[in-house]
Amino acid sequence: MILEHLGWNTHFQTEFDALNNKDFTPARVIREEKGRYLLATEAGEISAEISGNFRYNTANLKDYPSVGDWVSIKPINNNTHSIIYHVLHRTSCFTRKAPVSGGRKVRDIQNRKVVLGGSTEEQVIAANVDTVFIVMSCDDNFNLRRLERYLLLTYNSGASPVIVLNKIDLCEDYHELFLEIEAIAMGADIHPISALDKSNIESLNSYIRIGKTIGLFGSSGVGKSTIINRLLGNEQLPTSSVRESDSKGRHTTTWRELVVLPKGGILIDTPGMRELQLWTDSEHLEFQFSDIEDLMSQCKFNDCSHSSEPGCAIQESIANGTLDIDRYENYLLLQYETAYLEDRRREKEVKLLHRSYYGKQHKLMRNGIGLNK
Ligand code: GDP
Ligand code: ZN
Repeated sequence: MILEHLGWNTHFQTEFDALNNKDFTPARVIREEKGRYLLATEAGEISAEISGNFRYNTANLKDYPSVGDWVSIKPINNNTHSIIYHVLHRTSCFTRKAPVSGGRKVRDIQNRKVVLGGSTEEQVIAANVDTVFIVMSCDDNFNLRRLERYLLLTYNSGASPVIVLNKIDLCEDYHELFLEIEAIAMGADIHPISALDKSNIESLNSYIRIGKTIGLFGSSGVGKSTIINRLLGNEQLPTSSVRESDSKGRHTTTWRELVVLPKGGILIDTPGMRELQLWTDSEHLEFQFSDIEDLMSQCKFNDCSHSSEPGCAIQESIANGTLDIDRYENYLLLQYETAYLEDRRREKEVKLLHRSYYGKQHKLMRNGIGLNK
């Protein structure tokens, strides 16, 4: 496999050259499970694990290799296995809150190290994705607020969103839905399709180019597996519904979370991507809801709470119909969640700093250089 067909480009080449070690080989992560990796290299696929040094020096879960990552490896055991030494800087990444439970020391979910509980930690679920198909369907599942979340996540990740409005065959006039999407899409392309109709998928093909990585979002039942199987053509991948219902499927050697499509282009499809939750920061929230932020700056009082004050631009816009109250409420909810997550993130940083500071003191004491001496 030519590296460029796997997504290799000048960005990664520069990163890799900077390592300046002829023994390293570049490889891309196809899947990861409990610290065991399957990688794609120029010479084919190879299993891998992380070097002891990497583990020792890596405190944050976020810095561990994830599906889609480019890593540097050294093959061992006659090229039947390999050791991962670095993760090359990502061009984009999707993260989620790692489930770290409260107030005590717990093992992290990959059993690699003990972390302090009571805080959330970012975990990368897919890296180096170029384009995300955000799939919505025209049926009961149609939900603009959810679409706003997905757009936010995508902009936050560094990837570009493409909105796919699926199941238009179930809708008498999807045009109205199209316009509703357009109003919040921030310029993202929108493709109305019916995945049941083969010819419809053609409109998505222009995003699928050699070396470009595609990911998919969307709630269950909107048609992601159907779209993926269309993109795969004859080489059908076991769909995630099969994988989820039969976790044993995860251990088969054919299971891939990253596949090269027959026509070129790379597809990442992981349960994590499918279940993605919000993990973002206020900067991106402001970007996506800049209309609301603009309105807020027009309120008569600087400290307007936008509830009952005279001269409140928010209340006026809701009353005269130029601001959709659902959009405003969704903004408030996302703002709350973002603030909550940022607090938790800060809390964790403080704890880590605290730990490394006292850790250093301990060492100094052991060496008889206690700070009081
Ligand atoms: P996923 O959970 O997002 O992967 O959704 P699936 O691809 O499994 O699709 C859920 C159901 O919707 C299946 O029964 C599909 O056959 C059906 N479906 C997918 N796309 C379309 C479409 O464009 N039109 C119609 N009518 N049904 C569709
Ligand atoms: Zn106001």
